[in-house]
Amino acid sequence: MTHHYSDVSLWLDSIDGIVEPDVPELPAETDTAIIGAGLTGMWTAYYLKQKSPDLDITVFEAEIVGYGASGRNGGWCMGEAYGLDTYLANPSTREAGMRLHREMFNTVDEVGRVSQGEDIDCHYAKGGQLTVAQMPFHAEQIKRRVAYKHSLGFTEDDYQWLEPEEAGGRIRTAGRYGAAFARNCAVIQPARLVRGLADVLRGKGVKILERTPATELAPRVVTTPRGRVFVRNILRATEGYTASIAGLKRNIMPLYSMITATEPLPEDAWAEIGLNEREVFDDPRRLVIYGQRTIDNRFVLGGRANYYFGSRRRPTIPATDANVKRVEKVARELFPVLNDFKTTHGWGGLMGVPRHWRPCVTFDKTNGMGWAGGYVGEGVAATNLAGRILSDLVLERETELIELPWVNDEARLWEIEPLRWLGSRSVRWMGYQADAEEARTNKPSVFWGPIFDKLSS
Ligand SMILES: Cc1cc2nc3c(=O)[nH]c(=O)nc-3n(C[C@H](O)[C@H](O)[C@H](O)COP(=O)(O)OP(=O)(O)OC[C@H]3O[C@@H](n4cnc5c(N)ncnc54)[C@H](O)[C@@H]3O)c2cc1C
Repeated sequence: MTHHYSDVSLWLDSIDGIVEPDVPELPAETDTAIIGAGLTGMWTAYYLKQKSPDLDITVFEAEIVGYGASGRNGGWCMGEAYGLDTYLANPSTREAGMRLHREMFNTVDEVGRVSQGEDIDCHYAKGGQLTVAQMPFHAEQIKRRVAYKHSLGFTEDDYQWLEPEEAGGRIRTAGRYGAAFARNCAVIQPARLVRGLADVLRGKGVKILERTPATELAPRVVTTPRGRVFVRNILRATEGYTASIAGLKRNIMPLYSMITATEPLPEDAWAEIGLNEREVFDDPRRLVIYGQRTIDNRFVLGGRANYYFGSRRRPTIPATDANVKRVEKVARELFPVLNDFKTTHGWGGLMGVPRHWRPCVTFDKTNGMGWAGGYVGEGVAATNLAGRILSDLVLERETELIELPWVNDEARLWEIEPLRWLGSRSVRWMGYQADAEEARTNKPSVFWGPIFDKLSS
């Protein structure tokens, strides 16, 4: 029987015939258990198998492969990662931060290489990223950002300021004051990538148990509603869903991001919008707007939104949700031509935010427990690097990757409720205040802006 996933995301909905969840028999034991079949879980299994082909791996997935953020995201495969600036700003971590930054560039190409080599048709295109100045003061902000990247040693080939006329050749938003172009960014259809990887892994003998949540994890034992499995290593890859496991409620804050997708647009509409190279685009607002042109000429546009009290997770977010509608409204304001076309999909997904707002990869060989995640909404490429690092840690390989600053960079726990909820509400409110003030005055917000920036990084 074929399931449909139109309420989960356009990406899962447009994969032909996702069949019934695959629920093989629960093994009594396995060498390495991976919890979560998103991109972190799949990449970790992929590199473990590549480096140690005989390793016995079982993946436990609560729903189906790609049901989490990996099957719902904006499809930006970017050569950046959340929190990178923190390492770069601190003289004691700058050099390591630069290595991480360069490795993120390589990761964009690695994702393209593997998907091509493994015949995964995930619509990969390395068109770069445009950050568009919607207001004159944005142009100054973006130019300073490009100059900062150059001061670190990056070149015009990596980051470039485009004057309004040149930027207009690539993208035509309502306000047009120039743009930054970053070459190291690709675009993908994320569900095709994560599910394609799962198929490759099944072919290599990895067992993937769908509809099999882990309810409790203890050294050497995974507990599920179907029974217990004895293991040597447990690698947790549950990101924004981590609170679903006993005892881990305050490790990662689940934040929702919302997305809408239009019907396929005709060429004359795209002539008004641009993005001919399938560049992705955003702007400097704190609301965070991110867009891509899909291979079938839809416009997919997302924005950041919500936290629910008690780290509550909603399986799906309806297209009628007020936060989804707000993203749709912003899309139509930015590109008035969209008013002539239908929005066919609207959905939301969970991203994972650790208390220090940057990813972590860790493995303790004494008890066989490890995890990777905390990408704060920038994990499409970062999951690949995290998977490569985690596989090296598990296999005790002495590589340069295990020297990168994500390794063992664990955050402290989040505050208890209602502080968590109040804090996230206040930060979001400050972000909206700062954006609104900047739109009104055409000047950087000097009060709410810096507080928001400080609290969200
Ligand atoms: C709407 C949205 C847009 C985004 N856009 C971008 C973007 O454009 N670019 C970018 O770089 N990043 C983006 N991100 C972030 C990116 O998608 C994530 O960082 C990345 O997919 C995380 O992958 P993951 O495998 O760690 O987590 P997930 O993909 O969330 O996978 C976790 C898996 O664990 C499963 N699970 C949960 N609980 C259990 C349990 N108890 N037992 C077993 N399995 C469990 C879930 O069902 C899920 O399949 C976006 C995120 C969202 C939500």
